[in-house]
Amino acid sequence: MNRLNPPPRLLMGPGPINCYPRVLSAMSTQLIGQYDPVMTGYMNEVMSLYQQVFKTNNQATLLIDGTSRAGIEAVLVSCIEPGDKVLVPIFGRFGHLLQEIAERAGAEVHTIEVPWGEVFQPEQVEDAIKKIRPKVLAMVQGDTSTTMLQPLEHLGEICRRYDVLFYSDATASIGGNPFETDQWQLDAVSVGLQKCLGGPSGSAPITLSERYVELVRKRHHVEAGIRSEHHENGEASRIRSNYFDIPMILDYWGEERLNHHTEATSMLYCARECAINLLEEGIENCIVRHKLHGDAMAKGAQGLNLKLFGDQSNKMTNVVGVYIPENVDGEKIRSQLLEDFNIEIGTSFGPLHGKIWRLGTMGYNARKDAVLHTLQSLETVLRRAGHSMSAGAAVDNALGVYSGA
Ligand SMILES: *Cc1c(COP(=O)(O)O)cnc(C)c1O
Repeated sequence: MNRLNPPPRLLMGPGPINCYPRVLSAMSTQLIGQYDPVMTGYMNEVMSLYQQVFKTNNQATLLIDGTSRAGIEAVLVSCIEPGDKVLVPIFGRFGHLLQEIAERAGAEVHTIEVPWGEVFQPEQVEDAIKKIRPKVLAMVQGDTSTTMLQPLEHLGEICRRYDVLFYSDATASIGGNPFETDQWQLDAVSVGLQKCLGGPSGSAPITLSERYVELVRKRHHVEAGIRSEHHENGEASRIRSNYFDIPMILDYWGEERLNHHTEATSMLYCARECAINLLEEGIENCIVRHKLHGDAMAKGAQGLNLKLFGDQSNKMTNVVGVYIPENVDGEKIRSQLLEDFNIEIGTSFGPLHGKIWRLGTMGYNARKDAVLHTLQSLETVLRRAGHSMSAGAAVDNALGVYSGA
């Protein structure tokens, strides 16, 4: 077996992306015991760091061990009892994922949809809530499959009026686009590290409002083997997943420190470093940086004579969709970029499969040199494939964005 030696790729797709160097170092830091006071101290620090990242005062702010969908699954399986109504507005691949996970949790799922490349107006969501009267509204903020950013700021108020729990998956958008948990009145939010936060996949930070926690506490069933006399079962049905049982996970992260899983220590180090990195840069500065490099990439792509995909007024800062020109083989271009230039860009799913590429500028790779290298390389590959464009326009366009900034 050869030694581990992955090629030095530049990951310019919709995620994962290259890690910040300090996050990489954090992962190779030595392990400590699960109840070492240093470890529980780190857990408390992570809670307070992610309160700042999520912009919330929620006490229940912690990590779910697993990739982003572990966070989604924990939030949904803990609050959905079989037969509960859930409304999922779908504007891309990850809306379908929320539907799928809610259905598996036993929900009666209702969906509304807009075409890929668009987002919902608040009235559309309110009308559906009025009609369906769901217990939960589950909605993605930034859906990388379409590059769209769903405005959430008016939906929390609507949810409160109809007594609906408001959950959002902000995995792809957090850190690179505005997100306000408390101000927008969200009850649950889950994310991952591998997009704008600049870490690897494998940890899912979540935050939960008091309203959410109160509701799931009614389903509290401490597992045999760690139970003591003072543990009483909640009046509501037992949560169907042990691993994603939020009341038990809260007991582990809370004062009782009741054993549940073994916290994924290396991933916790990573998540901690990602948050510190973001907060040291400043959330606002980080959003501005993502917007700058995202704009440079989009303008550069236009210089390649590529057409941008989707409603540009509701686009995420950190990923741009471009139509694959008619006369070229999209997969061949991607593999040439990878083989000759060590650059990865994204393909697409579902109705957009074979139609658009997705160019990401996020986390560590939201950088001028990464954008310029990608554009220059893509120009070479496209030109050699017979696509016509004005030579040098891509990099010039991007440089124009930088000098205007
Ligand atoms: C990328 C992405 C994910 C990733 O989920 P994983 O389980 O980490 O693969 C989840 N949600 C959204 C909206 C994403 O864009």
